Amino acid sequence: MPTCENCGQKWPWKKIVSNTFKLTNKANCPYCGTTQYIVVKSKPATAILNFLPAFLIITVGMIFDISVPQVLMFAVVLVIIFLIIYPFTFNLSSDEKTLN
Ligand SMILES: [Zn+2]
Repeated sequence: MPTCENCGQKWPWKKIVSNTFKLTNKANCPYCGTTQYIVVKSKPATAILNFLPAFLIITVGMIFDISVPQVLMFAVVLVIIFLIIYPFTFNLSSDEKTLN
């Protein structure tokens, strides 16, 4: 789980996920209040994580003859798994420059 570079506290999962939905890489630490930048830990891992759910849904849909509601259920499960793993692929940095 991402750790604040300033105070060393681990950020709650909820904080990272809610920030992801805001589509910003900037967030205030819930413990010390300093601005932290959410930095991707591993770009290839994040890319795989972004494409894997869609790839799995298409593959499963092609191999198994499943109905639309089943595909949707499978998609929901994948999104939940994705959201659980997602915050682990980030680091926090006090400096935006480390993004590059
Ligand atoms: Zn902090």
